[in-house]
Amino acid sequence: MKPLLRNLAEMTAHRDHLRLEVSVVSTLLLQGRETRVRALEMVTRDAETWLRPRSWSDGERIVTSELEALDDPAAIALRCLPELARCIAAGGKSAERIDEHGHTLWMPVWLGERAHACLEITQPKAFTRHQRDVVSGVHLVYQNYQSLLDYSERDALTGLLNRKTFDEQFTRQSGADSWDARHGPDAPSQWLAVVDIDHFKRVNDQFGHLYGDEVLILVANQLRSLFRAQDRIFRFGGEEFVVLLRSATLAQARQALERLRVAIESHAFPQIGHISVSIGFAGAYGGAPVEIIGRADQALYFAKEHGRNQVRYYEDLVASASLKQKVAHDEVELF
Ligand code: GH3
Ligand code: MG
Ligand code: MG
Repeated sequence: MKPLLRNLAEMTAHRDHLRLEVSVVSTLLLQGRETRVRALEMVTRDAETWLRPRSWSDGERIVTSELEALDDPAAIALRCLPELARCIAAGGKSAERIDEHGHTLWMPVWLGERAHACLEITQPKAFTRHQRDVVSGVHLVYQNYQSLLDYSERDALTGLLNRKTFDEQFTRQSGADSWDARHGPDAPSQWLAVVDIDHFKRVNDQFGHLYGDEVLILVANQLRSLFRAQDRIFRFGGEEFVVLLRSATLAQARQALERLRVAIESHAFPQIGHISVSIGFAGAYGGAPVEIIGRADQALYFAKEHGRNQVRYYEDLVASASLKQKVAHDEVELF
């Protein structure tokens, strides 16, 4: 098989975005010995868009950066690359620049209306027609395949990440260093919150399922707008959501969840009026995923039992002896 076809076959064998990206970078490197390729992640904060090198070629190897997008000192503001900024503003396919680094070709990776990444190829010589054809073909395959992958990771009603994705991502990440307990609760860390709509059955019973669905969509939109780009929001089950807050202190996590609770409580839902949510959360470290979810669930259960419409933190409940720390055999009941 030709190297390009072999690489394309390998690209589409991945079910993981980062491995797919690495595979795309290595496919594009086939363009020439002097070609350099980078995959740049795009993140927006306070109306400024940043490009962060996430995977790139470094001689023989392909390196991927583990840094959080917004903490990476290598991130470049999109406004510093006016050719690319104009292309993205116009929803375009590619942009180019010739300068002291050589010839650079950028190709934004679109997911629906949003460019979430960009491929960057640089070489000393101008791109030939053949090179452009191959590169744009690889880019299209990548983009199409990635939107399929993204579709399979999301819940059809709300567009949030689904339970299957949670199981895959959380199991993988909870094994990583950043999830380790060594940071302690006062240092920025990871938190897992379970958010459950209160008396949702009543909404369905009084107004019908379609109105219930509408509430789920609106709650999902609130979740999306209230959490930061690095947090992860999942629809876990019917009217239950899970939020993974990353790089936050305990105080920040508590504040963000309280803000969510207040936002839902004060929102007037069309026809239905007001609803509320109960939230339980725990540190996403110090145990297997099943134990961590178990702790957040206990805190949620406590909130439900004590009036609903409130945020409860597992460790507070343990410290005040409201909850006993669960013994290992209890956790089995969760699944
Ligand atoms: P609690 O305050 O204790 O959480 O009470 P609840 O009524 O919210 O909880 P319960 O678990 O008894 O009911 C959840 C309801 O959510 C039952 C089910 O009909 C509804 N539900 C689950 N998935 C969907 C969905 O996709 N659409 C709609 N409309 N309703 C759903
Ligand atoms: Mg409920
Ligand atoms: Mg529920």
